[in-house]
Amino acid sequence: MESNVHLPKSVTDILERFTKAGYEIYIVGGAVRDVLMGRLVNDWDFTTNATPEQILKVIPDGFYDNTYGTVGLSCDDNLKPFEITTFRTEQGYSDSRHPDKITWGKTLEEDLERRDFTINALAFDKDLKVIDLFSGQKDIKEKQIKAVGDPNERFGEDALRMMRAVRIASELGFTIEKETFEAIKKNVPLINKIAKERVKDELFKLLKSPNPYEGMVLFRSTSLLNKILPEMEKCFGVEQKSPGRHHIYDVGNHLLMSLKNCKSEDPITRFATLVHDIGKPQTYRKLESGVITFYNHEMVSTRIAENIAERLRFSKKETDKFVTLVRWHQFTVDEHQTDNAIRRILRNVTPTYIEDMLALRVADRLGGGARETSWRLEEFKKRLIEVQKQPFSLKDLKINGKDVMNELNIPPSPKVGEILEKLFEEVVEKKVENTKEELLKKIKTISS
Ligand code: ATP
Ligand code: MG
Repeated sequence: MESNVHLPKSVTDILERFTKAGYEIYIVGGAVRDVLMGRLVNDWDFTTNATPEQILKVIPDGFYDNTYGTVGLSCDDNLKPFEITTFRTEQGYSDSRHPDKITWGKTLEEDLERRDFTINALAFDKDLKVIDLFSGQKDIKEKQIKAVGDPNERFGEDALRMMRAVRIASELGFTIEKETFEAIKKNVPLINKIAKERVKDELFKLLKSPNPYEGMVLFRSTSLLNKILPEMEKCFGVEQKSPGRHHIYDVGNHLLMSLKNCKSEDPITRFATLVHDIGKPQTYRKLESGVITFYNHEMVSTRIAENIAERLRFSKKETDKFVTLVRWHQFTVDEHQTDNAIRRILRNVTPTYIEDMLALRVADRLGGGARETSWRLEEFKKRLIEVQKQPFSLKDLKINGKDVMNELNIPPSPKVGEILEKLFEEVVEKKVENTKEELLKKIKTISS
């Protein structure tokens, strides 16, 4: 692998400015790996022997983030702000979480040594020569994720690295090298010490990646899944096959296959797809006839989804979407259903999430071995559009409670509401037109 590479001018400018000012400067981290692999880079990290104050003198338009001693610099290209960090060493991770202290390193070697995986511990120097102290290039060729140094020690320092290994492996289509893999299996319990926000972040990065399915399979084989989503692990081995019914997978594999077939790129929709049947193990019943039922499983799944959202510190908005998708995923698609039934689905799912709900349904079908769609589903989609054109709630009726009271000469009472409801249904079922005149006429027949 030669570094015959072409980098954005804003990147080479940084190398030049620091070099001219008399400092060492290197491109480090994922950017080097991605350049060498021919992948698109939009996230450039640099490391230097200059202190933060000295960095700011070289790039006065930079901004200083003092938690990590990193200087950020926005540039004109379509790139994330550059991050320029003084050489670091990290010592003593007594809680597998944060370094007890971050100290400035004196050399590039020290900085590269503290990085997680060999493929992430590569650097480009100012002349774009590759610096490869841990055979990272060999591991790129062999497509493997391998810890820098002793994997047990490294996961002991920061347990999130175990999730990073899985996420990066599935992003790149790599495997996890044997010793590193064994060390993950051994250190899995440490993941509980990690701040839930970091766990969520890493999980979402995986869900956003092109192959979240591969990542979930890896989570499972490393036993990380059992710690991160124990409710999901319980779904494996729960059979769904019934005489005369169509189910090719157990619950766990059905969920994985649904995720694999989810066409939405939204991580929440993907996550909801992954867990939509997660309540099935708790509702499993096998009848004498051999038929297996999961009565009320969507309610149990919803409760579990709420727990997961809380545990992983979802935002309110994320929780709302996640839980809504799981709660209503069991909607019926049937040519005999009334417009009212379709409207009820729309009201529950809300128009905002309806596209995501349909993506979940398609994934659910494909993940169960069915075809992507059916004429019923296509018909249903058309009717969804149709009913949205029709009056949607009582408020859209061309008469209101006052009109009803006047027309019948009655005082306010629940009856007024009942009459409005009836009129609404008649309009929905196209038995009467939604005009004031027609509705007033209709009131008499309804109330008598
Ligand atoms: P991506 O940007 O796709 O997430 P990346 O490899 O650039 O991949 P970052 O999270 O941006 O990952 O981190 C940048 C670099 O910092 C990594 O390449 C790695 O060298 C180092 N690094 C990040 N997190 C850790 C960690 N938990 N332990 C050790 N080194 C880390
Ligand atoms: Mg990065």
